[in-house]
Amino acid sequence: MPFHIALLGNPNCGKTTLFNAVTGASQYVGNWPGVTVEKKEGRFRRGGLEVVMVDLPGIYSLSPYTPEEIVSRQYITDEQPDLIVNIVDATNLERNLYLTTQLAELGRPMIIALNMIDMLERRGVSVDTAALEKELGIPICPISASKSTGVDQLLHRAIHMLHDISHEEDVAGGEGQLKSRAAELHRELHHIHGDLHENRLPYHPIVKTFYDWKISAAVEAVEEVIRDLPGAGSAPRFAAVKLFEGDPILTRGLPLSAEQRRLVEGILASVPETPLVDRQMMIADQRYRFICGVCGRVVKKPRKPVVTLSEKIDRVLTHKALAIPLFFVIMLVIFIITFGPPGSWLTDTVSNFISGSLTDGVRQGLTSVHTAQWAVSLLCDGILGGVGSVLSFLPQIMILFFFLSILEDSGYMSRAAFIMDRPLRKIGLTGRSFVPMLMGFGCTVPAVMATRTLENERDKRLTVLITPFMSCSAKMPVYALFISAFFAKNKPLVIFSIYLLGIFVAILAGFILKRTALKGENATFVMELPPYRLPTLKGLCIHIWERLKDFLSKAGTVLLAASVIIWFLQSFNTSLEMVDDSSRSILAAAGTAIAPVFVPLGFGFWQASVALVSGLAAKETVVSTFGILLGAADETASAAALNGVFTPLSAFSFLVFVLLYTPCFAALSAIRREMRSWKWTLFAIVMQLGVAWVCSFAVYQGGRLLGLG
Ligand code: GDP
Ligand code: MG
Repeated sequence: MPFHIALLGNPNCGKTTLFNAVTGASQYVGNWPGVTVEKKEGRFRRGGLEVVMVDLPGIYSLSPYTPEEIVSRQYITDEQPDLIVNIVDATNLERNLYLTTQLAELGRPMIIALNMIDMLERRGVSVDTAALEKELGIPICPISASKSTGVDQLLHRAIHMLHDISHEEDVAGGEGQLKSRAAELHRELHHIHGDLHENRLPYHPIVKTFYDWKISAAVEAVEEVIRDLPGAGSAPRFAAVKLFEGDPILTRGLPLSAEQRRLVEGILASVPETPLVDRQMMIADQRYRFICGVCGRVVKKPRKPVVTLSEKIDRVLTHKALAIPLFFVIMLVIFIITFGPPGSWLTDTVSNFISGSLTDGVRQGLTSVHTAQWAVSLLCDGILGGVGSVLSFLPQIMILFFFLSILEDSGYMSRAAFIMDRPLRKIGLTGRSFVPMLMGFGCTVPAVMATRTLENERDKRLTVLITPFMSCSAKMPVYALFISAFFAKNKPLVIFSIYLLGIFVAILAGFILKRTALKGENATFVMELPPYRLPTLKGLCIHIWERLKDFLSKAGTVLLAASVIIWFLQSFNTSLEMVDDSSRSILAAAGTAIAPVFVPLGFGFWQASVALVSGLAAKETVVSTFGILLGAADETASAAALNGVFTPLSAFSFLVFVLLYTPCFAALSAIRREMRSWKWTLFAIVMQLGVAWVCSFAVYQGGRLLGLG
C-alpha cells in the first residue's frame, strides 16, 4: 500500500507548483486562485517508500460551502491521507495560517511547507521558522516551490514522518484503538519531554488550543461527549469545534443520542451567542487573535515598508481610466506579433514545406514504386492536404499560447477580471465570470471546467453558456487561412475584430440571459489580486507543451480520421466509383442538402456546409476540409481557390459563423458535464447556432446594403 500525502493550502499558494516539482507532473499552474478544481494524483518513490501525492483545490477554510472546500474536506475526512502537507504562502502568512489552525485540529500527521520564501526575502521580510514551529507545534520547512529550493529537505522530513507512522502502525498491529492510544501516549510523552525533544517534533501535531479558556473548556467538554461516536472518532477535536460552530454537514452526520444531544446543548449554553456574534464568529475571531499574536512574534518586517513593484505596476494597469484601454492594447499587440510578419513568416515556411517539398517527395516516391492511384491520393490529397494544412498553423498557435501563458503566469489575468468587474456588473455579471471567459481564448474545455469555482449555480450556467463565444485557439487556423486569402493587408486588425466580436457577443448574450432565462441577484465578487510574478520558464513550457500535445494528439486522431473520411466521401460517388470531379461525390450531395440554410449568409455552397459540419469534430477540421476540397497545392493556390468561391464579405461572414457556432464535441461534453443537464446542453447548442446564424446574416446583409460585396 503506497502512502498518501495530501497537499492543502489556500488558492494560489503554490500547491500545483510543488506537486509538479515533486512528481514530475505537468499540471496547470496559473497565477490566480481557482486553477485546480479537481484533485490530481502523482506518484514518486523516496527513501524506500512508495508515495502518492494528491494535489487538491485551494481552500480558505474547512467549512464546506464552495465546491473546492467540499472536494478537499471530503478527501481529508474520508480518505484519511497519511500525511498532510499544508502549503503556506509566507507572503500572506496571517490569512494562510487561518486554514492551518483548522487543519491542525484534524489531529492528522502534518507538516507545513512555508512557500514563496524567495519573494519574502526580496521584500526584506523574515520569518523565524524555528519560533513558528514551536508556537504551532507543527514541523515547518521553508521552501520556494518555483525555484525548487528547500523541497528536498521538505521531502526528507515528510518521508521521515511516514517512516515513523508506518513503524507505529506495526506496533499498533493495525488496530484502530491501539493506534489512537499510541498516538495519545506519544502526545503525553511529548508534553512531558517536550523540551528534551526540541528538534524532533511529534508527527502528530499537538492539538493546540487557539481559544480563550471559556471556549476551550466548552470545546473540550463537547469533545469528551462525542469522542467515541463514529464520524468523530478520527478527528474528535475538529468535530467538537464544528459542532460548537453549528456546522450543518457535521451536525447532520453525527449520530448523537438524545442524552448526548442534551449534554452538548448544555455545554453550548455556557457560551451564549449574542445577536451580533454567533459561535462561528467567536471561533474565527479567536483563531485570528491567536494568529496575529504568533505573527507579531515571528515575522520581522523592514522598518519602512517598501512600495512593492506589484503595487507600482498596478497603479497603471488597474488605473480607473487607463485599465480597460490598456487591456485592449495588450491584446492588440499580441495579435500583431502573432499574425503580423513574424507569425505569418513562420507559418508560410512550414506550409510551403508541407505542401511543397514534402507532398511532392511523397507523391514521387509512391508513384515510383507503382503504388495504386487511390493510395497516392489518400496520402497526398487526403492526409497531407488535410492534416498538413492545419499543422502549418502550429507555429502561430504556439506564439499565441506563449503570450497567453505570460499573461496568466504573471498575474495579469486576475487584473483583467478585476478591471472588467465594474463594466460587467452593470450588465449583471461579475469579474469572476471573466476568468473562464479569458481561459476560453485557449481552449473551451478547461474554461468551462473553470466555471466550477463560481459559487452561484445561476452565474455558473450563464458563464458556461457564454464562454464558447470566446474565440478558442483551434479556430485560429481558420482565421489565418482566410485572412491570408482575403485580408492580407491588415491581418492583425481583422483577427482582432473577430476576437472583439466574440467578447462583445458573449457579454451581450450574458446581458440578455441574465434578464430572461437566468434571472437573479448579482453575486458578490471577491477575488484577491496576487502579486505580479515573473513567469517561470517551466510554467511557460508546461502551458505550451500542453497545447502542443493536445494539438498533436488531435492531429493524429480526430483530424486524421476526419481527413480520411472527407477524402473518401469527396473521391467517390454514391455507387462507390472514384470520381474525377468532387462535385459529383457523395460529399457534394450531402453538402448541397444543407447549403440552402447558408445562402442568406453568403456561403450557400456545399464545400462551406461540409467544412462547418466537419468542424464539429474539431475546429481545425474546417481548415483540413478546405485543404482537401480545394485540393490546392500551396498557399497562393489555396488563396486563389478560396477566392473562387468566397468574396471578402462572405469570407468575413463565414469567419463570424465559425467564431460563434456550436463548439467542438469535446467542449460540448464538458458543457454537459458542468451543466449536469441535457436540457441546458441542448439549449446551449440551439442558442449558439441561432446566434451564429443571426450575426453572420447581419454581417453579410449589412455589408451588401453598404455596397461592400
Ligand atoms: P496553487 O493554486 O496553489 O496550485 O498555486 P500554483 O502552483 O498554481 O502557483 C501560483 C503561482 O505562484 C504561480 O504563478 C507560480 O508560478 C507561483 N509560485 C509558486 N511557488 C512559488 C515560489 O516559491 N516563489 C514564487 N516567487 N512564485 C511561486
Ligand atoms: Mg493548483
